[in-house]
Amino acid sequence: MKIDILTLFPDMCENYLSESIIGRARRAAGRKTASGGSSDAPIEINCRNIRDYTENRHRRVDDKAYGGGAGMVMNAQPIYDCVKSVQGSETARLIYMSPQGRVLNQALVKELAKEPHLILLCGHYEGVDVRVLDELRFEEISIGDYVVTGGELPALILTDAVARLCEGVLPSEDAFTEESHYDGLLEEPKYTRPEVWRGRSVPEVLISGHHANIDKWREEQRRKITEEKRPDMLT
Ligand code: SAM
Repeated sequence: MKIDILTLFPDMCENYLSESIIGRARRAAGRKTASGGSSDAPIEINCRNIRDYTENRHRRVDDKAYGGGAGMVMNAQPIYDCVKSVQGSETARLIYMSPQGRVLNQALVKELAKEPHLILLCGHYEGVDVRVLDELRFEEISIGDYVVTGGELPALILTDAVARLCEGVLPSEDAFTEESHYDGLLEEPKYTRPEVWRGRSVPEVLISGHHANIDKWREEQRRKITEEKRPDMLT
């Protein structure tokens, strides 16, 4: 899986994507495997600076909106050239992070994780000249019905959610198949040491060592918690 993030603020994205689980997965390429070969990274993520593609001699990438109105609009040309340079011959899925798009949920994340290549466009200011979206047939994806200042956080959320479903990013499949939303339920509550904290005990079944009973408890809790917190998910 390859993800290209097109942005005016590549460091913003790079900083997040260099850390923790995603950072480790990106750095996995070339590591020696048990069989003596060398591994491929489970995911390749590149943060591209749209400004590097502008033909403007002052390196401008935005301008005032026709018809007036507050805020600048990102020019079509640098975005178009940036997409063309990363698109290659394969068919990448082009996504504009937009508050006007289809709202991201786990079903859509699962669908996107099957794609070989995603190109995510981050808008800023008032957004982007719509002609480049039409010309390249971008689909639009939103992280929710509210507006943030730029597409970087939305692109990072999408990238993170998709990356953790790619084989080799998390230590095992259980790490994501048992989590909230994967199969339409929320996850059961979690406990760790100590067994009693401020008078609150860990449920006995979890320290019983009886695996069948633990599984039954988990399933019951998943349903109970979903009913309590998100009854809409059960209808
Ligand atoms: N003028 C635009 C509108 O009203 O639809 C909003 C522009 S917003 C301030 C700047 C950029 O942030 C957008 O181009 C988009 O890339 C990103 N953005 C803002 N909210 C978003 C959301 N809920 N989901 C995805 N991207 C979002």
